[in-house]
Amino acid sequence: MSDASETVLSVVIDPGRLAAGIVSSDGDVLVRDRVGTPGREVWRSLEQIVRRILAARPEDVALPSMVGVSCAGPIDVEAGSVSPASVPAWSGFPLRDHLEELTGLTVHLDTLAGAAATAERWLGDAVEVPSFLLLLLDQTIESAVVIDGVRLRGAHGNAGSIAHLMVEPGGAPCTCGASGCLNAYASTAALETEMNRPMRRATPSIVDRTGIMIGRAIASAAAAFDVTTVFVGGAVIDTFGDPVLESLRRELALRSRLTHLSGLQVVELSGYGQPLVAAAAVALCAGAEMSRRNDPE
Ligand SMILES: [Zn+2]
Repeated sequence: MSDASETVLSVVIDPGRLAAGIVSSDGDVLVRDRVGTPGREVWRSLEQIVRRILAARPEDVALPSMVGVSCAGPIDVEAGSVSPASVPAWSGFPLRDHLEELTGLTVHLDTLAGAAATAERWLGDAVEVPSFLLLLLDQTIESAVVIDGVRLRGAHGNAGSIAHLMVEPGGAPCTCGASGCLNAYASTAALETEMNRPMRRATPSIVDRTGIMIGRAIASAAAAFDVTTVFVGGAVIDTFGDPVLESLRRELALRSRLTHLSGLQVVELSGYGQPLVAAAAVALCAGAEMSRRNDPE
C-alpha cells in the first residue's frame, strides 16, 4: 500500500473532541493528543493541536507525507468543507483548505463513519467482509457503507448516512427539521433530552424502543444496499448493552423477510476502530481506492 516508514498526520473532529496524531502506514499511532471541542474558536484549537503534534514528532519518526481527516458529517468532499452539527460555527467550513495551508500537505477528508469503515476494511473487523454497513450511535448518528470492497461516497461524500432515515411516521421532531428520523430516537443527544437523565438511567421501555428504531433503520438500509453484515458501535450500544441488541435483532427479524437478507448479521464492533487510525486510513487507502476505480475491470 505504501512505504513502511511513511507516516500520516491524522485529524479527528468528533462531536465531543478534537484529536490529532502521527500514524504509521502499518496503523500504529506514534504521537497523539486531544482536547475537548471548545465552544468557540474551534479552528484555532485545531491549529494549535496540529502544531503541537508536529513539534512532538520524535527524530526517528518520518515527517507525515499527507493528512487524513475524519469529521462528523455532513461533509462536502468536493468542496473540502464540513458542517458537523456539534460545531454550529462550522457550516460549510473549508477545513481541507485550512489544513492544506497549515501543513503544506495533501489532505484527504471523509466522514467519521466513512473513515471507520475504511479502517475496518483495511485492518479491522471487515477485512473479509466486502459489503457492509457501519453504524455508530453516539451523540449523533454516523454511518457509511462499503459495497464490493468500495467505500461508496456519493455526490458530497455522505453516502450510506442513515441518521435521518424515517423510522416512525409522524414521530418525534428531529434536529434536521423533519420528524420521525432515526436520529430523533437513537442518538444520545436526543435520548438524554427526551429522558432528562443520563443514558445509564434509561428505563427498559426506552432501551427496547431504541432497539426497535435501530432495527427498522437497519432493515431498510440492508434491503437497499444488499449488505451481509451491519457493524454497530458507539455510546448507545455500549451503555444499553445486550437488551438493545436483543430488541434490535427481534425487530430486524420481523422486517427482513426478503431472501437476500436471510443471512444478515448484526455484529458489535470489536473496538479496533481507533479514531486516529481511521483518519489515517482515509489518506493511506485513498491511493488504493483510486487505482481500483481506474481499473478497466
Ligand atoms: Zn432528521
